[in-house]
Amino acid sequence: MFLTGKKAKLAQICSEIVARAEDAIVVVDASHTIVSFNQGAERMFGYEEKDILGERLDALLPERFQLQHDVMIDEFGQGPVDVKQMGRRNRQIYGRRKDGNEFVASAQIMRLGDKDARYYAALLRDISESKKTEEELLRLAATDPLTGALNRREFTVLAEREALRSNRYHHPLSLMMLDLDYFKRLNDTYGHSAGDKVLQRFTTLCVNALRNVDIFGRWGGEEFVALLPETDIDGAAVIAERLRKIVAESVLNYHDQKITFTVSVGVAQYKDSESAIDGPLSRADSAVYDAKKAGRNRISVFRN
Ligand code: GH3
Ligand code: MG
Ligand code: MG
Repeated sequence: MFLTGKKAKLAQICSEIVARAEDAIVVVDASHTIVSFNQGAERMFGYEEKDILGERLDALLPERFQLQHDVMIDEFGQGPVDVKQMGRRNRQIYGRRKDGNEFVASAQIMRLGDKDARYYAALLRDISESKKTEEELLRLAATDPLTGALNRREFTVLAEREALRSNRYHHPLSLMMLDLDYFKRLNDTYGHSAGDKVLQRFTTLCVNALRNVDIFGRWGGEEFVALLPETDIDGAAVIAERLRKIVAESVLNYHDQKITFTVSVGVAQYKDSESAIDGPLSRADSAVYDAKKAGRNRISVFRN
């Protein structure tokens, strides 16, 4: 009598924990019909418990994931484990609110009951905000704050990855180094913040003129780099010349002044099985030097 009473009390306490938990807790039966929906779930999905009980789990999922989600649960039902952590690193979980909005969640799923009466519970936490913060941090770590171009470190990582791919398929790959001309003088004439605006405009011009597959970055100061996949030295020279011209024709309105600026570009092609950036970079750099020596506002090609 005493034990039964204690058990009943514990069961009541457990259901209170479920009810009051901050996380959403959703329980479905073997046919994926919702049989329990706590207050956290009401807050997360925007449904009231009484409206959602008896509905299929699909109601809480974006349509494009419904089928694979069904399969996933059935596989989990037959698999070796009773508890599984979802979302985060391995696989994202998306939920759909009553108003149709989607969110990213992490989820712990549990297999409960037994073969004859199978239930599944999901403990869900909305991670949209932390996901956004994480993405923003990744973006900040990869880009230069002034221009938004990739920073040197990120460019180097992406360039090496691209070089390995190009080598594997024996595709040509070229690198451009772009150094703005007389930039010190430009700063001295118009001021440092005008110089900053020129760097921003220059980045926009380059990003707009390059293809989506090209990788553009700020190497440092007034020096930029562009990696051109599937492009040999002659193709790269054409792109470099087009960029040079676009830059030379651009006019920046700064306060009541019209600022023009030019760039010298050095072009080099990766050699077969060259994957580190150092080699092509130093060749592109020496080509820049030649372009400067020849008078600036021009391109120079390094022939291997
Ligand atoms: P050259 O034509 O030979 O390339 O001459 P240059 O003056 O462009 O080259 P130099 O290397 O002598 O000077 C580069 C200048 O770029 C000096 C530096 O103050 C300026 N610079 C570097 N980073 C920035 C920046 O973020 N903002 C501004 N406004 N200027 C910068
Ligand atoms: Mg320079
Ligand atoms: Mg310069």
